[in-house]
Parts: sequence; structure tokens; C-alpha cells
Amino acid sequence: MKILSVLIEYRVFSLNAPFSYVCDDNVSVEVGCRVYVPFGHQNIVGYVIDVKHTNKTLEELTKETNVAYKYIYKVLDEKPILDKKLYDLAKYMENEYVAPFISCLQTILPPSLKPAKSSLKEITYRKLKVVYAKDNIEKIKLNPSQIELYNKIKDGNGLFYKDLPAGRVKTLEKLGVVYLDEKVVIDDYFKDYVIENKTLVLNDKQQEVYDAIINGEDKVYLLQGVTGSGKTEVYLKLVEYYVKNGKTAIVLVPEISLTPMVISRFKSRFKDIAILHGKLTNKEKEIQYNKIKNGEVKVVIGARSAIFAPLENIGIIILDEEQSTSYKQDSTPTYHARDIALYRAKGFDAKVVLGSATPSFESKARALKGVYKQLYIDKRANNQPLPKVNVVSMRTDISDFSPLISNTLDRLIRETLHRKEKIILLQNRRGYSPYVSCRKCGHTFKCPNCELSMSYHIKGDKFKCHYCNYEIKFNHICPSCEGDDFLFMGSGTQKIEEVIENNYPEAKLLRMDNDTTNVKNGHYKILEKFKNEDYNILLGTQMVAKGLDFEDVTLVGVIDADITLVAADFRCSETCFELLSQVSGRAGRGKKTGQVVIQTYQPDNYAIQMASKHEYEMFFKKDMLFRKKLAYPPFAYMSSITVLSAKNDQAVILADKIGSKLKMVKDFEVLGPAIPYVFKENEKYRVRILVKSKKHDLIRDAFKKINTIFKEEVIERKCNILFDIDTYKML
Ligand code: ADP
Ligand code: ZN
Repeated sequence: MKILSVLIEYRVFSLNAPFSYVCDDNVSVEVGCRVYVPFGHQNIVGYVIDVKHTNKTLEELTKETNVAYKYIYKVLDEKPILDKKLYDLAKYMENEYVAPFISCLQTILPPSLKPAKSSLKEITYRKLKVVYAKDNIEKIKLNPSQIELYNKIKDGNGLFYKDLPAGRVKTLEKLGVVYLDEKVVIDDYFKDYVIENKTLVLNDKQQEVYDAIINGEDKVYLLQGVTGSGKTEVYLKLVEYYVKNGKTAIVLVPEISLTPMVISRFKSRFKDIAILHGKLTNKEKEIQYNKIKNGEVKVVIGARSAIFAPLENIGIIILDEEQSTSYKQDSTPTYHARDIALYRAKGFDAKVVLGSATPSFESKARALKGVYKQLYIDKRANNQPLPKVNVVSMRTDISDFSPLISNTLDRLIRETLHRKEKIILLQNRRGYSPYVSCRKCGHTFKCPNCELSMSYHIKGDKFKCHYCNYEIKFNHICPSCEGDDFLFMGSGTQKIEEVIENNYPEAKLLRMDNDTTNVKNGHYKILEKFKNEDYNILLGTQMVAKGLDFEDVTLVGVIDADITLVAADFRCSETCFELLSQVSGRAGRGKKTGQVVIQTYQPDNYAIQMASKHEYEMFFKKDMLFRKKLAYPPFAYMSSITVLSAKNDQAVILADKIGSKLKMVKDFEVLGPAIPYVFKENEKYRVRILVKSKKHDLIRDAFKKINTIFKEEVIERKCNILFDIDTYKML
């Protein structure tokens, strides 16, 4: 008999120890395979971490150890699901992020291979009939039109039956010169959005950084290049170089939905590329995964989790927009793709390129210390100057038709429309109004799940919770006083759309936000229209700020720059500076120069001022002084512990105890426990503790101790703990 140590799929610390199962000697099972096992009243999936042989019988074993050994149902994999390198990475993550090992495996693997019951679900996919030509048909007589069709089928090597003349194909099939088969069809999300593959010759500045990276001794590069300086072109050339030299490459982009143009450029340049993103079905993910694993593709591009692509022989890993917070995962394991990139690159002796116009403070500080090699491209590839930015005070410059539009922006919109050029408008908030209250009694509309204010959406006349997507129709009667007069405060993209359409008859506007893009290929359809049809205004949330490269956009307007500044977060100036720099960078990318208008109630704010002058270095210096004074990252490391429970008082008691323990550690600054802004999520109340220290490992080790000390109590109080290493969430 074999005794198996099995980690089960539940990703909580209380079940993070191996359970013992048995199977017969003739069952073939290796460490690293998944098994299907009984557990309590359920059948679940586990991951084998040890296999031992025993000559004892089940009865003897049970008697001896007092453990009720159960038989596994079956082994799910012939071979271990991870290679050595990725297994080691999972171990590294378990330690680094204080996470249950099984959760690390589940993060690294695609849905169909995860050690979890969900991986067993039958995955459906679309199959279509395809036609193939047979060889050696000399003896069969065909007429000229049949020969023509036969040749077409032969050249096409798997054309879809539906695309061919059915009757004539059937005749060829009867004659025995072609045959039908079925093929899985994979939706090509990028099919409709093709960017012409024009290989450019790198300019001197681009060539310089390209050479520096390829020939340099350093392993990690911070490529700081202003918007439109041709960073993407450098990435493409770098990947080309490594692929030519027999290596593979991973390119990470913030969110597929934010960077369709970048992806399309890669897709048109490399035939053997895998694109990984959240909209793929599980089957599609599996197919992509197998292609990568079998070495059929050399280049992988994708969002955060693409960093786990099972490539071998990696030569380079590139993070585009390395400052993007989308690279950080907020749930267990709370990894940052940049750190995983550094770890994986080391294992292959590969290079890492962190690219940005506005690097994260963490990376910039490391570059200044010489930990990363700093490279600059300080002018645009088209030799145009960076756009001129007008900061407009909404205290003094309001137009007479709307408090949301300044005279300056109004004038420039009219001029731009008159010249038949295009405009991008940013309002980083979706919906119509983020806050509605009853004028009579002051009632506000809150989400029953999150207890946070819901946003009003004019499309559909409903309230939506932007945290949990809860929706409810608005019946225009106050539930507490039955009044029917309401105040709509604040403004989202839908309100701006209304203002623009009411005041600019020539405007043909496209709105791009989560509400208009959640249909299939939503982003592409909108961007295609903006590019090719006579739409002249693209209005949206941060989706319009990043990665877009339209040459006829000459005006960019930021409707309310203060939205990001009011967040109670020490990074809010950085976020604001980045967003303004990014969106400004959309203007004047072609032959004509661009103009930018930033509307604000705080025209003297240094983030806004410096962004308007494209002064990253000055902004960095200034904001670093503030960070230093308060010992915020990157001067110290900051992580958090969140205690979650369906019972608020239990979470508070436990968090208090944990907080007191942490406060005893030398070199720690402990903030809280406190109730965060989102204090209820998925029916669970949350209490948070923030920990700051100059020593990264000290925090991690303290968290591990907390985990051990409170293991029992967490279960007793029916709580759960989330460790967020290097947290990005202040709230
Ligand atoms: P970034 O990624 O830094 O914002 P891009 O790579 O998107 O910049 O380049 C900006 C624009 O300049 C694009 O339209 C691109 O096609 C063009 N471009 C980039 N490099 C060159 C070059 N070497 N020669 C001509 N045009 C270039
Ligand atoms: Zn909600």
C-alpha cells in the first residue's frame, strides 16, 4: 500500500497541513500530482506532497496511528503539474507572502490544472467543421472548377466548412479527394483590431537604450521614457533579439483592457505568441497554457498572472507601465508581479526591463541607489515637444452653460472640433452621479452588501454599487420619507456625456468605461470606431488615459483632476501625477502638436503643477520629502493584516489582540487596528492593522509568528486573516 500526504484545496491556514490518504501499490502516483479524495462529507481535490510505501494493512495502520486513513478515488495527473522551477516559485511565495501553499499553486496554475474541484468541471468549447485535402489523388478525375476548389482547400489546410460552397465540398468528399474533420475554435479577441506591422528603425536614443540592455552587465533596467518616446518599439526589438537567439520572453501589460494597442502591436509582430487575459474561457486558457508548455510559442504577453507562464529558457521579462497597481494582487497570495519577475529572471539569468514614463517610487528609488540600471529616453519619437498643458481653476473660469466645463476647455473644444481634429476627455468616475440624497430627509442610497454609497446610473435608471456590482432600479421615491425630490451630487462619465451632447451639436461622442466595455470586444469596437469613423470625442475613465496612440488627437481635457487627490492615501499625489502625465501623453502624437486642459479646484497643488510641466524628477524629489517625514514607502515597508468575520465584534477583539502583539516588536510602527473604508465585503466585516518597518523580512517573520500564535483563536472566533505584504491599500 502507499501512504500519501495530501494538501487539500481549501485555502485557509487552519487546513494548511497535509492529510493522509492511502492507495494500492499498483496505482501510479507521484509527488506533485493532483488526487481526487473524500474529505468530510465532500469530494475534493488535493495535491500530493509525499508518497511512502508501507507493508502494513489499513487496519494495522489505523490501529497504530489512530488516524482514519481513507482511500483516494483517483489520481488526476500522470506527471507532476509543475516543473521544478515553478514549484520552487510556489514555495518562495508561500514564505514571502505568508500564504497557504495550496493558494500559491492555485495562483500559478491555469483553471483546468488548479488543485481545486473547479478544475474538474467539464469545459465546453466551440467546435467547427473543417475541410482537409487528401494527397495522392492523381487517379481521380476532376473538372477544372473542382480542381480549383480542391487546390484552395489544400492550400488552406483546414478551412472552415461554413466558409465554403457546401454542395461542391460534399461532391469532392464523395469523390474521396477531401475529408471533413472538427476543430476547436478559439475566439481571437484581437482579430478585429489589427495594427499594421510596420517595423521601424530605432532612432539614436532608442538604439542607445536597446544596446545598453542587450550588452549591459546589469540584470534589471528601469527604462524611463516620456510618453510617445517609443518605448513599445524598444520592447518589440528586444523581444525580437532574444527570440532570435533561441530564448523566450514575457511581456506584462497593466490590464489587457487598458492596453489593447500595445498588445495588437506585439501580435502583429510575432506569430508565435500567446496572449493571456481574463476574458479567455477556461478552455482557451488551457490551450494557451499547453502551447506555452510544449514550447510552441516563444513570446507570452498578458496581464499580471502571465508572469507565471510555464516558459523555459526565458531571456527577458518586460513590465510595461511598471508603476501600475494592477500588478499587485490584493488577495492571498498578495504578490506583486514585479517581484515575481525578479525572482523568475534570476532563475534563468534573464534580464528584466521595467518601463514607464512615470516610474513607481519604489523602482525609482532603487534605480537612484544603483540597484536597477537607469535608462532614459527624454524626447518623443516624432520629435514633437510634449503637449502644452493649461491648468485651469474651476473657481474662476467656469463657463456659463455648465459648472463642469471651463471657458478655456470650452474654447479649445470648439476650435478642435472646427479643425476636424479629435479630443480625448477624462473623467475618472463612471456612472452619472456617485451620491444621491433625498432633499427632504437627507436619505442616501447605500449598498445592502457593502454599506457604501451607491452610484446612480442614468442608463437604465438604477443604482449600482461599484464595489460589489449590486444593482437596484431607482423608483424615484425616497424609501424613508416618500419624498420625490433628489439631489444628484458629483459627476461621472454619464453626466459629462450629457453636458457635451447638449452643448456641442457637432460632437460625436463615444463613452468608454466599465459600463460600455463589458460586452465582448467592447474596447476594440469603441477604439475602432474612434479611429475609423467620424466620432470626434472619446470620453472615459482611466481607460482613455493609457496606451492609446491616435495621431489626430490634438486636445486632451481632464474634467476633474481632483478625484484622485482626495483619496486618503499617501500615494494619491503619485497616482494623480501619473494619471495626468499619462492622459496628457495622448495628445499630439502625430504631426500636429497637442494641447491639454486640466480642470481643478486646486490649481496650485504640486502634483498638478509639476505634471503640467512634465517635471517627473522634481515631483519625485518633492513627494519623497513628504514620504520620508512620515516614513512611508519607499522609506519603509508597509504591510497589513486584515481580520475578517461575519461577526463584527469577533473581528474587533481578535484584531486588538494581534495589534497589541505587533506593537511589542522593536522597529515596528503599528497603525490601527482600524475600520477600513470598505468595512464589509462578501458578508464579512473587516478590521485592519498597518505595520511599517525599515526591515522587510522582519514584517514577514512577525506575520508568520502571528499566524502560529493565533491559529487556534482564529478558528474559535470564526475569523479569517489576510496578510497583505507591501500593501497598496490604505483604506
Ligand atoms: P511609448 O510606448 O513610449 O509611449 P510608442 O512606442 O507608442 O511610445 O511610440 C510612439 C509613436 O512613435 C508611435 O506611433 C510609434 O509608431 C512611433 N515611433 C516609435 N519609434 C519610432 C521610430 N524609431 N521611428 C518612427 N516612429 C517611431
Ligand atoms: Zn456593494
